[in-house]
Amino acid sequence: MNNKIIHHVNVLLPHQILSSATVRVTDGKIERIETQETLPFDEEYERIDGKGMWLIPGMIDVHIHGANGYDMMDGTEESIQEVSLTCAATGCTSFLATTVSSTMDDLLNMIRSVKSVVGRERGAKIAGIHLEGPYLNPRRKGMQNEKYLRHPDLDEMKLIFREAGSLIKMVTIAPELPGGLELISYLKEQGVVIAAAHSDATYEEAKEAFGAGASHVTHCFNGMRPIHHRDPGLIVAAFEEPHVSLQAIVDEVHLHPAIIRLMHRIKGPEGMVLITDALQAMGMGDGEYWFGGHHVTVSDGIARLSDGTLASSTVTMNEALRLTVENGISFTDAVQMASTSPARILDLSHKGKIEVGYDADFVLLNEKYEVLWTMIGGQQV
Ligand SMILES: [Zn+2]
Repeated sequence: MNNKIIHHVNVLLPHQILSSATVRVTDGKIERIETQETLPFDEEYERIDGKGMWLIPGMIDVHIHGANGYDMMDGTEESIQEVSLTCAATGCTSFLATTVSSTMDDLLNMIRSVKSVVGRERGAKIAGIHLEGPYLNPRRKGMQNEKYLRHPDLDEMKLIFREAGSLIKMVTIAPELPGGLELISYLKEQGVVIAAAHSDATYEEAKEAFGAGASHVTHCFNGMRPIHHRDPGLIVAAFEEPHVSLQAIVDEVHLHPAIIRLMHRIKGPEGMVLITDALQAMGMGDGEYWFGGHHVTVSDGIARLSDGTLASSTVTMNEALRLTVENGISFTDAVQMASTSPARILDLSHKGKIEVGYDADFVLLNEKYEVLWTMIGGQQV
């Protein structure tokens, strides 16, 4: 049944929490939000007792590579479905299936497997594909495999678009590479979010890229030229541009809490999105894994290559939300960063908020930020 009355919940509205509220869902959309239990019994509607917990808009992860032992680059539908299920279990209702630099064959296989799953996801919905690479700078490669990194190649990108069509929603590039600006103008025509990372761009190069159409920074501070007071680089250029939003990996490793607060102070919750950047080890615990053609060791939840380089994360969206609040950011702002801002950036016009007319994509969280259930389009998954 797609008609639900969710009662006795504390609802996260865009800027406030509505206590002891009732949300009525009709045909998978939010029809009414009430502050009291005034809705009469209606047998067309299934009643769900929220037991005084938090009802937040479904979170949206624009950067996830794998989960629960499955890597989306392996080119199977099963992996895409498993990540979709794990996303839903961790409070995420939409995600961008994210690539890592690879051979063209592996990339095209991944695109085909995503295409075949879209529309019949078993958990969170696929909002599209995020290409992280391969046009990245080896000087800031992080865990990206150098043997697959190359300069922007417009013909190759056109081939990728021919296979993926409108599924591509975000592309992360190093804009300072030869051909970077031409690539930006092509991607702008395609209407995708152009993100910078794994980049050694100077302040001036980054300004040029943001002027040309780049509007997002992937895992800000990680995989890019650091800030120096005489060489401010990409990060300060992004801080100065009001239209540029930032991704943050909040997992107790990738960013110091003071940096998370600084990003929040400069950009506000509307200019910042929480991501997991998770690899297949998410939900699996410590051990040995394979990612992007590298052997990765996860110890105490931290994924590293053999030389110590951080290799993605194992954090989940609900943990990232909890850590953001523990780092001193308000709950409503943290939810905005996990749900509302990614929806806006991806142009998902009826997602990311609990508001009349929006999709009934919700997560019920307890006081420990654990996911009690996830609802997508009015269906509990
Ligand atoms: Zn990366």
